[in-house]
Amino acid sequence: MQVKFVADAMLGSTARKLRAFGYDTAYFKEGDDSELVSLAKKERRVMLTADARLAERAQKSGLPVVLLAGRTEGSRMDSIGNALRRMGHEDIGGGPRCSLCNGELEPVGRAGVLGSVPGPIAKRHRTFYRCRDCGKVYWKGGHWKKLRSLERRLRQRSDGTVVRRRRGGGKARERGAGGQAEAGT
Ligand SMILES: [Zn+2]
Repeated sequence: MQVKFVADAMLGSTARKLRAFGYDTAYFKEGDDSELVSLAKKERRVMLTADARLAERAQKSGLPVVLLAGRTEGSRMDSIGNALRRMGHEDIGGGPRCSLCNGELEPVGRAGVLGSVPGPIAKRHRTFYRCRDCGKVYWKGGHWKKLRSLERRLRQRSDGTVVRRRRGGGKARERGAGGQAEAGT
């Protein structure tokens, strides 16, 4: 079963990245904590928050929650990855999703995007991805490399029961990695 997330209002950037990595991630922009908790319950989403009080509250009501302590996206990906493995979700994550709206992306050829991406981009790339919901077009642009390294941090494995962070050089899992991209600039 694929894990789904809901990110609280402070975590928009983290939510966008998780979508690109193939995780169904709702971004809870407006509303109060109790609405957030009930959405997470109703849709069976793992809650992501950097707010310790909210995390505690969610936990008390039986929700799986990841409290993100780090400030950088990298350290957040570490926490999420570690928490997922503790919950027993190692090899999940589906195809890439739209970082704007969480819709699923489908591959489209160059001919399908002519007119909707800048000419030089259309020339330089062969494969594009289009959101089934909002129509946004993605390609493997300048953000690609950065995203990949973040994704590696999310997917690093730990050994045994001790959660260990590997720094550099560790063999990373790259499942579900095909095609996530952010519109390049
Ligand atoms: Zn979309």
